[in-house]
Amino acid sequence: MAALGSSLSEFLLLLFLYFMKNPKKKIISINDKLREHFGVPPRAEKLPDPLDLLIATILSQNTNDNNSYKAYQNLRKKYSKWEKLVGVDVKEIENEIRVAGLAKQKAASIKNVIDFLSEKNKTPSLDFVRDLKSNEALEVMTKFPGVGIKTASCVLLFSLDRDVCPVDTHVHRTLNRIGLVKTSSPEKTFLEINKDFPHGIAHQFHTNLIRLGREICTAKSPHCSACPLVKMCAYPEKNFESKKKRNGSFMLLDSV
Ligand code: SF4
Repeated sequence: MAALGSSLSEFLLLLFLYFMKNPKKKIISINDKLREHFGVPPRAEKLPDPLDLLIATILSQNTNDNNSYKAYQNLRKKYSKWEKLVGVDVKEIENEIRVAGLAKQKAASIKNVIDFLSEKNKTPSLDFVRDLKSNEALEVMTKFPGVGIKTASCVLLFSLDRDVCPVDTHVHRTLNRIGLVKTSSPEKTFLEINKDFPHGIAHQFHTNLIRLGREICTAKSPHCSACPLVKMCAYPEKNFESKKKRNGSFMLLDSV
């Protein structure tokens, strides 16, 4: 038994060292397996405006995509152009987005972003980030109050199609279980995997990992018998008992 335990730890260590040496290759092979299983995630032909995407991502914090989508639609219905939010009382924004939860905090973040951008450009716009390199754009956007690295990186991926993979709790958890990273927070996972992300696959990698995390590799207990990555996964507590599977295919940020 002890010998079995030690050979398993050696295997996991070797797998981790391999991932560390070849993270780019490993990301490509994880992506291939996920794409075979879930397909290529659908994407609108015209990518969303960066400010639309930033506001939608603020609304999506700590809630599900269905509720944040409703909040986004409410806001859009009342304010067809973001410039109509300039000078609006924060309470009015709060009322429109209540369904997404944390309404006070999110309304304040949206108002801060709108006020900041309208001072800079007269009408609020994030178009200037199109001309920045990804690291510069991240630096600028994370200076807005209420905008962290995850929100800013979603703008880069979903709106500007950069080779940047945002990291939420699902992406952080699954990549740690698989063994691609050994990190203690989504921010650290983001820095690890985005040092040199492979070209052209960030959207499918990110979106399919979220589906994996919602439907199969769930937080409480993974359903490893249904997992396309089972052969390459280093997680020592795999669970082959449960057959339960959820549907997590609706993605807010591809519906903005
Ligand atoms: S094999 Fe299990 S633990 Fe590993 S990624 Fe798949 S579901 Fe998660």
